[in-house]
Amino acid sequence: MIEVKDLVKNYGTFPAVKGVSFSIGKGEIVGLLGPNGAGKTTVMKVLTCYHYPDGGTAALNGFDVVGDPLAVKRQIGYLPEMAPVYTDLNVYEYLNFIAEARGIGAAERKRRIEETAAECGLSSVLYKEIGNLSKGYRQRTGLAQAIIHKPEILILDEPTTGLDPNQIIEIRNLIKNIGKEKTVLLSTHILQEVEAVCDRVLIVNDGLIAAEGTTEEIGKSLKGEPTLHLVLAGDGSGVEERLKECAAVTAVRPAETKEGFAAFTVQLTSENAAAEIFDWAVKNRYRIAEMYLEKIGLEDIFIRLTHEGV
Ligand code: ATP
Repeated sequence: MIEVKDLVKNYGTFPAVKGVSFSIGKGEIVGLLGPNGAGKTTVMKVLTCYHYPDGGTAALNGFDVVGDPLAVKRQIGYLPEMAPVYTDLNVYEYLNFIAEARGIGAAERKRRIEETAAECGLSSVLYKEIGNLSKGYRQRTGLAQAIIHKPEILILDEPTTGLDPNQIIEIRNLIKNIGKEKTVLLSTHILQEVEAVCDRVLIVNDGLIAAEGTTEEIGKSLKGEPTLHLVLAGDGSGVEERLKECAAVTAVRPAETKEGFAAFTVQLTSENAAAEIFDWAVKNRYRIAEMYLEKIGLEDIFIRLTHEGV
């Protein structure tokens, strides 16, 4: 469980995080999504006790980052943006070093290393020097060091940066698997990553949370009334006027379409009202060629909330 309340962090006089609150429960994978410089890494550095906050509170499994940083560090596994691996050690030596530093006794270490390596798909490269591994395998090694002590909370800063498309899919699947029983906070500026991996998203912009929820929830709150895309066969004469007479319709705009069809963007009072439009078309003997509720994507949400492309 991660609980953050009114968190503030300044670098000198520069306010990087300006009052952020959120909570993440067990078994949840939450994405911290935002443009460069939004404050994602800073939030993570406070949660991992790298920086003290200048205001507000942050607690991990009930332990406060200021009051009990040692206990906090025992709860977490952290993968910083650059995986902190020693390139001249082999994977086994490196994980052994991390396991020892994490207080795992000698008797248990070998078994734990082998288990973690298997979980992260590293068994076949266990005795290879990290410097000779591909970026994907290095990232797996970084993930392995973050989970070797079986932490309940995982904090992953841009875990797929710099990987090729196949490696990205592998690491995302790995995170999804690991995340089933843990609390995971993952930062990214890749929209598809959030949609592929996360249960929920916190959109951060300029040191503040601009929106929070599932993609669908945020979309709904931004979108206002549901929008129906409707295409009818024929020239569409009189359709606009007739549609406006429906109680379920609040506005109608013509849309672009191909010859022989007439397209409309129809604003409805509720999503359920789409069924009434179907009945309306049948009653008025219109032939429906296309009809669907427009969905707002994460990309639209992100651009609208941060006023920036990615
Ligand atoms: P990115 O996606 O580029 O990693 P981010 O969302 O993680 O960005 P942060 O690294 O948290 O953003 O940075 C937030 C702001 O604080 C940025 O304007 C950054 O320049 C500034 N900043 C970060 N670290 C420091 C520092 N050590 N000293 C001064 N300013 C800093």
